[in-house]
Amino acid sequence: HAIGIDVGGTLTKVAFFDDNQKLTFLYFLSDDLQRVSDWIALFDDDVKIGLTGGRAEQLKTFLRCHDNLHYLVEFDATVAGVNYQLQKDGKNFPDAVITNIGTGTSIHYHRGDEHKRISGTGIGGGTLLGMSALMTGIHQFDEIVQLSARGSRSEVDMLVSDIYFGNKTPIDGGLTASNFGAAGLTPLMERSKEDILATVQGLVGEVISTLSIQCAFAEDVEHIVYIGSTLSGNIPLQNIIGNYTKRKNRTPIFLRDNGYSGAIGALLSI
Ligand code: ATP
Ligand code: MG
Repeated sequence: HAIGIDVGGTLTKVAFFDDNQKLTFLYFLSDDLQRVSDWIALFDDDVKIGLTGGRAEQLKTFLRCHDNLHYLVEFDATVAGVNYQLQKDGKNFPDAVITNIGTGTSIHYHRGDEHKRISGTGIGGGTLLGMSALMTGIHQFDEIVQLSARGSRSEVDMLVSDIYFGNKTPIDGGLTASNFGAAGLTPLMERSKEDILATVQGLVGEVISTLSIQCAFAEDVEHIVYIGSTLSGNIPLQNIIGNYTKRKNRTPIFLRDNGYSGAIGALLSI
């Protein structure tokens, strides 16, 4: 048996092949590594473990036997996992920008056997949770996603067309001129939690896609593969990122098991 484990800042993701050779996924909260360790203890003592992620070293201190551990650098694991997932989905590109939206966001360039980290931003899944909690009191990821899907950004954001007020705009009027800008100008107006959460998703998605698109331009790449658990079941965020990316004539790719690239890469490395 073998398990791939990606111990991230927020979530610990695991990937393994079950008895029917089906690739299976599971996640735990990274603030309870004892649970992860208890789960690993359910496997035979000779189970091989591929380990990656920022908190991998911390998980090691919880593990009983260290004999079968194989450590992999996070970026190597992520890219290996993405390659596997793309191939499985029948997608094949010569090169791509890979944007991993975890607690924070890191952006990679990948071509053949070569890959490098080219950019990143502190705006990520942690920002989505943190700003949502501060502004609405809601901190559960699933609830944030569900409520945001019912919200509207039009009374909170300011579009380029809002500024030009019906006159001809020098750039695409549908672009956001100022995230939360309308709220800044009419601060006493009531906004629903749904609208605020939709706007937080907009801010996070637009910062990340804008940066990724610039990277794709700089590297002259068409495809941007967006991964990370922040996208998991998060259709509103996928739509924001997908639409922004298409507006700039780049092709957005979303994988089925968004958050598990690192765990898959760690599993395959064994
Ligand atoms: P990093 O790679 O930055 O160290 P990570 O690997 O833990 O962090 P991911 O697991 O890819 O990051 O994504 C974490 C984000 O996923 C959270 O910030 C949150 O927005 C979102 N998320 C999805 N499901 C959950 C969940 N059940 N609990 C908490 N956050 C979740
Ligand atoms: Mg991660």
